[in-house]
Amino acid sequence: MTALIWFRNDLRSLDNPALTAVCKNHEHVRAVYFLCPQQLDEHGIAPIRRHFLRRAVDDLSAQLGKLGIPLDIVNATHFKHVPSQLKNHCQKHGIEAVYANQEWLVDEIQRDSLCTEQLDIPLHLLDDSLLSPLHIAKGDGQPYKVFTPYSRRCREVLAAQFPRVLRRPAAKKSSDAGTTAQCPKFGEEKDSSAWPADEEGVLQQLRQFCAERAADYQKHRDFPAIDGTSRLSAALALGLLSPRQCLARLQQECGEEIWDAKSDAGTWFNELLWREFYRHVAYHFPRVVKGQAFQSYTDAIPWPNDQALFDAWREGRTGFPIVDAAMRQLSATGWMHNRLRMIAASFLCKDLHIDWRWGERHFLETLIDADFASNNGGWQWAASTGTDAAPYFRIFNPTTQGQRFDADGEFIVHYVPELKGLRGKQLHQPPAVSDYPLPIVDHNERRKITLALFKEIRD
Ligand SMILES: Cc1cc2nc3c(=O)[nH]c(=O)nc-3n(C[C@H](O)[C@H](O)[C@H](O)COP(=O)(O)OP(=O)(O)OC[C@H]3O[C@@H](n4cnc5c(N)ncnc54)[C@H](O)[C@@H]3O)c2cc1C
Repeated sequence: MTALIWFRNDLRSLDNPALTAVCKNHEHVRAVYFLCPQQLDEHGIAPIRRHFLRRAVDDLSAQLGKLGIPLDIVNATHFKHVPSQLKNHCQKHGIEAVYANQEWLVDEIQRDSLCTEQLDIPLHLLDDSLLSPLHIAKGDGQPYKVFTPYSRRCREVLAAQFPRVLRRPAAKKSSDAGTTAQCPKFGEEKDSSAWPADEEGVLQQLRQFCAERAADYQKHRDFPAIDGTSRLSAALALGLLSPRQCLARLQQECGEEIWDAKSDAGTWFNELLWREFYRHVAYHFPRVVKGQAFQSYTDAIPWPNDQALFDAWREGRTGFPIVDAAMRQLSATGWMHNRLRMIAASFLCKDLHIDWRWGERHFLETLIDADFASNNGGWQWAASTGTDAAPYFRIFNPTTQGQRFDADGEFIVHYVPELKGLRGKQLHQPPAVSDYPLPIVDHNERRKITLALFKEIRD
C-alpha cells in the first residue's frame, strides 16, 4: 500500500514535517500537487507569481524524483473541487493515508475539514509554516492583538525550545530517479527568473544574506537604494523555505545576538515574527481575510475611491517621487521594498482617500511574494484599520519620507529617470519638469481630511 503527500504552500523537500512523517511511516510514497487556475484567476494572482510557482513545482518534482517519489500535478480547476479530486486520486492510486502540512487561513481550514469528511482514509495534518505555536495566547487565554507583547512571548517560547530543522528524508527503496512531472503553464506569465525558485538557489540566498547582510540589517533595511534585506519573501510565501531554516541559519551566523530584539540579527528575527503575527491575527480574527477591518469601527469610513487617483497611484504618476518610484519598482519587478510598501500604502489611503482593499487587491495582483495574511496585515496597518497600536493620526508625509530614506535620490532616479539631474529639495518636490506630473493632491489638505474622516466615525 502507498501513502500520499499532498503539497500546498510547502514546496520543499528539506524541513518538511509532512514529507518526513510520510517517509518514516510508509514504504511506498506518491506526491500530489493540485493546480487551481480558476482560483488563481479569481484572486488575480500576478503573472510573475504564476511563473515563479510553476518553476517551484518543477524543482519540487525534480527533488522528489531523486527521492523515488513520483509527483502528480493534477488540474483541479478550482479550490472547491480539491476534496473530490483528492478522493478520486486516492482511489485511483490505492492510497492508504494522506499527509499534508496544516494551513491556517479560514478557507484552507474548511477545505481540509471537507477532505477529512469525504476521505475514507486518514488525513494527517502536521504543524508547519510557523516558528512559534499559532495558539500562543496572552495570560488571560485571549489571542494577542499587539505585536510587541506577541513577539516577546514568541521569543520566550522559542528560547525554551529552539525549533528543529528536519533533514531531507532518505530515498525510497523503489527509487525511480527518472520520474519528474512538469507543471503545465496556467494563465498569463511574466518572467520570474531573477528570483531563485529551486531549493538550493533559495538556500544559497539565505546563506548569503545571513553571512553578508544580516549584521547590518537594522542600519540598512529602510533604505531602498541599498540591497539590505533578504528578498526571501517570495520563497517563504510558497514554502520553498521554512522560517525554521531562516532562524537556524541566522543563529549559526550571528549566535546569541538573535535574542536581542534591538540588534541587527534580532531585528531580522523580528521580521520573521511579524509574518507569524499576521497569521496569528488571520486565524483568530478571520473577518480580516473576509474583507473586513480589524478595527470594526473603521468599516464605516466613506472612502471616496476616485478611480483617476487610483490609476495615477498604480501607474506611478502621482507627482510624489518616492511614491512613483515605489509603484514603478512594483510594476517592473513584481516586488517592492518594505519601507516603500508602507509609504505607498499610506499614501493611497491617507492622501488619496482610497479604500485599503483596493490597494490590497492591487498588491495581490502584482507581487511575486503575495501572501494573504502579510498583505492584509500590512495594508490594515498602513490604513490604521488593523492591529497596530499606531494611531490613525500618524500619517506619513511622502516628501519627508523620500528625503529621509532616499536622500540623494539614487533609488528615485533609477525608477523615475525624468528627475535625473535634480538635487536635494528639488528632487523630492520637483518643479514643473517635462514628462513628470505635478503633485495630484496637496498633502497637508488631504491629511486634514483624513483626520476628520477618522475622527467623525470614531466619535
Ligand atoms: C502594505 C504592505 C503589504 C505587504 N504585503 C506583503 C505580502 O504580500 N507578502 C509578504 O511576504 N510580505 C508583505 N509585506 C511585508 C514586507 O513588506 C515584505 O515581507 C518584505 O518587504 C519582503 O522583503 P524581504 O524578503 O527582503 O524582507 P526581510 O526584511 O528580509 O524580512 C524577512 C522576512 O520576514 C517577513 N517580513 C518582513 N517584514 C514583514 C512584515 N512587515 N510583515 C510580515 N512579514 C514580514 C517576510 O517573510 C520576509 O521575507 C507587506 C507590507 C506592507 C506594508
